[in-house]
Amino acid sequence: MTTTITPLIAGNWKMNGLRGSLDELTALAGMLTTGEAPRAVVVICPPATIVAAVARQGASAGILAGGQDCHAAASGAHTGDIAAGMLADAGAQYVIVGHSERRAAYGETDEQVRAKAEAAIGAGLKPIICVGETEAERDAGNAEDVVANQLAGSIPDAAEQHEVIVAYEPIWAIGTGRTPSNDDIAQMHGSIRRQLTDRFGEKGAGVRILYGGSLKPQNAREILQVENVNGGLVGGASLLAKDFYTIISAV
Ligand code: PEP
Repeated sequence: MTTTITPLIAGNWKMNGLRGSLDELTALAGMLTTGEAPRAVVVICPPATIVAAVARQGASAGILAGGQDCHAAASGAHTGDIAAGMLADAGAQYVIVGHSERRAAYGETDEQVRAKAEAAIGAGLKPIICVGETEAERDAGNAEDVVANQLAGSIPDAAEQHEVIVAYEPIWAIGTGRTPSNDDIAQMHGSIRRQLTDRFGEKGAGVRILYGGSLKPQNAREILQVENVNGGLVGGASLLAKDFYTIISAV
């Protein structure tokens, strides 16, 4: 049986965006409501300070809001952190966990990422779980093993009953303008799909696997049609409404 998956395009604004950036959201909303209806679920993950505003202002155009990280605990003495329940309370429906920038800067382990994903599910959010290899790991021929280990460690068992999303983001492609070949993307996404179906059966066949890493208006059409690519996680090119809309329209 083939599972039909509605693609999802998520924008990761990272640490970019003030209230003034909501003008880009308004522009995107205008494009999405006047043009052809998008064939993808559209999510924007802005800084936590404007999650509520994005959720509120994006709603009429079908733009959903997401967080960029959450703590594994529901509350407590964790200065500066944000709980999944707080993001949900602000109107978020998704949250990115295990982004390579957090794995690198804060030493986040697969176990911690899994705990965050569990917390997200517990708060009613859909976690976007990021995995991806370094350039040295790819050059050494270890990319698939590295990603398989990250997946095994980062995806909670709760994915059997709840929606999770996987984002494959080769670290060397993030923010560099470089991307893997379509064959390499197909091979990695195929390997991720096999792992998901081995572990979760039919449910694993329906999990969205996003590609992320220098996805741009110029390469989106080609990459988004690769087998088992069910959408994209977009960094830099999600900051400008025009570019992000072109990527959404490439679905
Ligand atoms: C990201 O950081 O998730 C990302 C994909 O960034 P960029 O699109 O800028 O490479």
